[in-house]
Amino acid sequence: MTEFNFTRRKLLARGATLPLAGLAVLGASRVASAADAICADPAKLDSGQMSIRESLNYVETSKDPTKVCGGCGFLHEVKGNCGSCMIFNGPANIHGHCDSWGAKG
Ligand code: SF4
Repeated sequence: MTEFNFTRRKLLARGATLPLAGLAVLGASRVASAADAICADPAKLDSGQMSIRESLNYVETSKDPTKVCGGCGFLHEVKGNCGSCMIFNGPANIHGHCDSWGAKG
């Protein structure tokens, strides 16, 4: 009986630990993918670039998946998730969006 309780306790402890470890791994991958998705790091942009982005309501992730920078005619030089926006003359995320979005022709 004692042995069973010990084993059960160990199983319960492992059962509680494994899901937490899984969540930690998932959380880390979410942080990594979110960090990878940031093309226009505000800390690396000058005030002029920040100003035009703010005035055009630029976001790194579009609310409308049919209107993303990746489908915009102003994005070029795409490498991975990031490209260069002709309007901003700087980085933009292929999943991003701003008020100047225009479909590729
Ligand atoms: S104009 Fe706007 S939507 Fe188009 S690539 Fe630049 S930031 Fe993205």
